[in-house]
Amino acid sequence: MTDINEFKKYAYQFIDWIADYYKNIESYPVKSQSVPGEIYSKLPESPPESGESIEKIFNDFQQLILPGITHWQSPGFHAYFPANTSFPSILAEMLTAALGAQCMKWETSPAAAELEEKMMDWLKNMIGLPSGFSGVIQDSASTATLCAILTAREYISDFSVNTNGITHNKYRVFCSSEAHSSVEKAVKIAGLGKINLVKIDVDDKFSMKPDALEKAIIADNKNGFFPLCVVAALGTTGSTAIDPLKEIGSICRKYNTWLHVDAAYAGSALVLEKYRWMIKGIEMVDSFVFNPHKWMFTNFDCSAYFVKNKDVLVKTFQLVPEYLRTNTQGKKNDYSDWGVQLGRRFRALKLWFVLRNYGVTEIQQTLEKHIKLAKQFAGWISETEHFEILAPVSFNVICFRYLPKQKKSVEEINKFNEDLLFEINKTGKIYLSHTKLNGNYTIRMVTGQTNIEEHHVIRAWEIIKTTAQTLDKN
Ligand SMILES: *Cc1c(COP(=O)(O)O)cnc(C)c1O
Repeated sequence: MTDINEFKKYAYQFIDWIADYYKNIESYPVKSQSVPGEIYSKLPESPPESGESIEKIFNDFQQLILPGITHWQSPGFHAYFPANTSFPSILAEMLTAALGAQCMKWETSPAAAELEEKMMDWLKNMIGLPSGFSGVIQDSASTATLCAILTAREYISDFSVNTNGITHNKYRVFCSSEAHSSVEKAVKIAGLGKINLVKIDVDDKFSMKPDALEKAIIADNKNGFFPLCVVAALGTTGSTAIDPLKEIGSICRKYNTWLHVDAAYAGSALVLEKYRWMIKGIEMVDSFVFNPHKWMFTNFDCSAYFVKNKDVLVKTFQLVPEYLRTNTQGKKNDYSDWGVQLGRRFRALKLWFVLRNYGVTEIQQTLEKHIKLAKQFAGWISETEHFEILAPVSFNVICFRYLPKQKKSVEEINKFNEDLLFEINKTGKIYLSHTKLNGNYTIRMVTGQTNIEEHHVIRAWEIIKTTAQTLDKN
């Protein structure tokens, strides 16, 4: 298809379909009921020799692809963390796709670079980070944490690893035993070795114990190791636990260690004044990441990465071959020097649309609503026989399990809850996921989807309660 009128015809048709999709989203099973290999086996061996009509492809999209999609934008989606979108974000993504600009350098699209700079300033102020911090959009928190560890490696080694490679395996990285797996991935990619990732014990709220961290660093120093980086979490993935930033920050300053904060999910909550206590000690932090693509209504991918010292970041990543030389070098932000990717999508546009169309107040109100729904749900769990809350509910994630009447051993209770989750998700009406806390199989309920309302949470609770009680009779 190259004809502009034909393009227009299908574009209108797709918009109609998208609008209907959102209108009817609750009629789809939230979690795809597809079985492994089902979609693959229905796809032809090779691409067609001559082009097919958009009509035919679109029809196959509906028949073949849609049944294999899990509907993340359904208000019945309570699994993992959300990957929220919103109408202003979708509209902006359409424009981004249409422009198809590759925004690696300031010169390759000045508006993209300058809008990104401004959006990062807006976000920085919205969540209360120090004004001296600089921000850049990364594709994901995993990439941001990798950038943090690579930058720490260069900073602590005086940029010698970039030149000479690692000449010893004595660099250590610290995080809590509840930290996200992206820390371990970053340590491996950075060439530090997984054996040099030290996992620090957590307290009964699943937060890192600062005294255990200090002990580990002292022991390492005695044994000739160098503490490279500490990754503190604000909102762990399992239970949204909050590491004590101020205490951890003081330890990092004392032992000259990079401090990276992984606030991938819960960082959004900092737009609410009442959560600002979490970043007491922020002046001791070197880098910080949170994901507007999780809980700030902005399409995946959009991860906001902030650093105290942008020069160290740029010095770690910058490479300027002749074909990328420009005469604005060093005067404007060339964001390809701020991370791993050279080519970059125009991701600031959707953020601009979201922040302007919502406005700060509506973002705050929506987060407040999600948090209130979680409190309500947690209340029902606590006051209902056999149900038990397994971690503090600090935001909008509730960790719980059901204690069946006859089954008493940990294994039996775990198996029951695994079966329970399977049965709940099989209904197709809601989708929840799980984690393990202290060896206990834990069901996680998240009330953070863009369009979630009270009646969705009431319905979810009805499904969970009846499914558990029915399963307990068998
Ligand atoms: C989701 C999450 C990540 C990973 O985020 P991506 O953007 O998917 O890489 C990292 N850390 C925490 C705490 C998370 O919740």
